[in-house]
Amino acid sequence: MSTRWIFTVAEMISFATEVRSQTKTLALVPTMGALHEGHLSLVRQARIQCDVVVVSIFVNPAQFGPTEDFARYPRNPEKDFELLESAKVHAVLAPPVEEVFPTGFSTFVDPGHIATVWEGAQRPGHFRGVATVVLRLFNIVRPDVAFFGQKDFQQVVIIRRLVEDLNLPVRIMVCPVVREADGLARSSRSVYLSAEDRRAAVLLSRSLKRAEGLAQSGEADAEKLLEEMRRMFAAEPRLQLDYAAIVDPATLEPVTHALPGSVALVAARLGQVRLIDNLIFGPPGSSAEMKLQLALTAPQPDKESAATPRPEIDSLRLKIENCRDCAALSSISLPAREFLFKYLKRDYPNLDVIRVLVIGGCAPMGPSDSPYRHPEQPNPFSTRLYELLGVRDFAEFKASFALTDAARCHAVGNRVEERTLEYCAKHLREELKLFPNVQTIVILGEYAYLQFQRHILGRERTSIKAFPELLKAEGWAQESVQLPCYGERDVRLLYCYHPTFENKRSPSVAAYLSSKP
Ligand code: AMP
Repeated sequence: MSTRWIFTVAEMISFATEVRSQTKTLALVPTMGALHEGHLSLVRQARIQCDVVVVSIFVNPAQFGPTEDFARYPRNPEKDFELLESAKVHAVLAPPVEEVFPTGFSTFVDPGHIATVWEGAQRPGHFRGVATVVLRLFNIVRPDVAFFGQKDFQQVVIIRRLVEDLNLPVRIMVCPVVREADGLARSSRSVYLSAEDRRAAVLLSRSLKRAEGLAQSGEADAEKLLEEMRRMFAAEPRLQLDYAAIVDPATLEPVTHALPGSVALVAARLGQVRLIDNLIFGPPGSSAEMKLQLALTAPQPDKESAATPRPEIDSLRLKIENCRDCAALSSISLPAREFLFKYLKRDYPNLDVIRVLVIGGCAPMGPSDSPYRHPEQPNPFSTRLYELLGVRDFAEFKASFALTDAARCHAVGNRVEERTLEYCAKHLREELKLFPNVQTIVILGEYAYLQFQRHILGRERTSIKAFPELLKAEGWAQESVQLPCYGERDVRLLYCYHPTFENKRSPSVAAYLSSKP
């Protein structure tokens, strides 16, 4: 695959239209070029999450003040292109100014109060320019997901507001700050630092780390933490502190106490070069992703997941629908099936609440069997499934359970080929990732059991007990395992008879499900 270099709005629109017509998911990573590891971390995330990735490189004059460094801003298109080509980006949009702001352009977006504090106070009009160009890029590319760096935390808050306030159909992903070995946040502007200034620049991240250390050892008083940060800056004459603040992550208003999710912002000048950095407070040992989640998603997860598109679901849907792996096995036609992904958006506004994933055997989800298809009309499969799980109806079921299938399109009869189980395990692995908080997986019937043992847990055939023997005594069996997609926590597996495929019935596992694994 070679990376396409696009210079005009018209060509970008036609490229994106073509991508959408293939129902692929599209990512946009907006940048101003002079790319470094920080930008590339966004690109890598975009590659993981979407089918097609567009990176824009545009030094946006509208976000620079008259006395700022627009003319001096580092530009390195050849090197950028090399980096993006190695990162397997599909297209780079690098328009000249007159493409983005043609003669007569006069509409600007005013993000309101949040754009007037901190960076906005230092750089009047900056976020008006940012919001305007980002909205224009969104309208040109119409991405499913756009990727931004936590490095520009206020920018993230403003873009998220823009998306929410104007109902833009794009999901915003935020990636953690990428730093140099000594802690300095990677930045295009740092190439202009002299050796001495570069050494002094580490104070931004060091002061944030110091505040974090104090907060983690029990000092939550924001003013005390800021005093310590200011004291550190006062000791370094090369640096002029523009501001240090501890703020609420949604409103950017100063807080009196640094709580998990509060954000420390800092901006300072070294001669002509201005640097910014930030840190999200979190419990000791929390990862950068967890802190981002604390700051950005914790306050209103339900609303957010309901309001935004869910490209990870769309992308999985496409992968399963377009999967032709089994076609090599036989001349099958792919019958329409009722896959979980069809119903995820409708029934699961928040995938995080799902604690139990149920994996059916082969084809429990033919149209007539699927509890999703006609939730109000129970069928033999769903009735027995609800009994097994101890729920009364579909509403109770979907509050904490999701049901998927071991074998997808292929199996219509009673036999499922080994290779079908192997191929379909690929889709199952992707589905498991959609439910980060699953504690228990209920595995129904022999085929789902074999698939899980062989292709999810990777066990040797000879070490797998025969299914009837496994369930012999109680009608069900359980074990605890660790799955790569859930890290090091234990997940409980419950093996049961399939509700309609086998002659035997498992007793209800409801009491078991309500206990902790
Ligand atoms: P820029 O080219 O500076 O406009 O940055 C483009 C995107 O890359 C923005 O979303 C930035 O927040 C992000 N970015 C810049 N530096 C970093 C970094 N050190 N770590 C993570 N993201 C970054």
